[in-house]
Amino acid sequence: MAERNLVLLGPPGAGKGTQAKELAARLEIPHISTGDMLRDAVREGSPLGQRVKAVMEAGELVSDDLMTGIVRGRLAKPDCARGFILDGYPRNLAQAGILEGVLSELGRGPVRALELEVADDVLVGRLSSRRSCPSCGAVFNLVSSPPKSPGVCDKCGSGLVQREDDKEGVVRERLRVYHEKTAPLSDHFRRKGLLRTVPGSDEPARVLAALVKAIG
Ligand code: AMP
Repeated sequence: MAERNLVLLGPPGAGKGTQAKELAARLEIPHISTGDMLRDAVREGSPLGQRVKAVMEAGELVSDDLMTGIVRGRLAKPDCARGFILDGYPRNLAQAGILEGVLSELGRGPVRALELEVADDVLVGRLSSRRSCPSCGAVFNLVSSPPKSPGVCDKCGSGLVQREDDKEGVVRERLRVYHEKTAPLSDHFRRKGLLRTVPGSDEPARVLAALVKAIG
């Protein structure tokens, strides 16, 4: 079967993480979330984690150089040989070019991009009611998918927290950064005939069905 090298685009809060996990399970390819990788590094207090913590908490982007090492190392692993779904990378036009270079270095095919489209006011509401498990990474939403017992992770029983960068002021900064730096990627992939856009405000099962159809 051909490689499935997929990039999931869309603003913070569009549901990329949720959808990428489902798609990865269906297609039997790894879900690579650069945000999750960075949050793991922060939790572990590794040198990388110490370097990126403040940048992440302010809702800004980590430097392209740091990201290149992380992404190159991950894509070179054998589990990516049949494809992957990247969630959170690329985040700007420079990273899109770097990704192309890394894939060609690795002798891999091009990516296809899937974009989730959601209006900003919906995103602010979604992100500020998001709660995350600091131990296992599970994500809940106080409105649409609350935990069974308030404040407690269904999966591992740890106390849920609000990510620093899900607080309203930081959410607005992340959306600003998204519109300035990340949104131009849609045009980049569209011009190459590599973009499919799917409405992301529907319930998750319908969004997933639309993504599966778009992948073909
Ligand atoms: P996310 O979970 O994808 O929203 O990412 C959380 C934060 O991690 C972002 O706000 C950035 O600070 C950082 N981050 C994740 N992916 C990247 C990337 N590709 N380039 C730069 N920073 C990133």
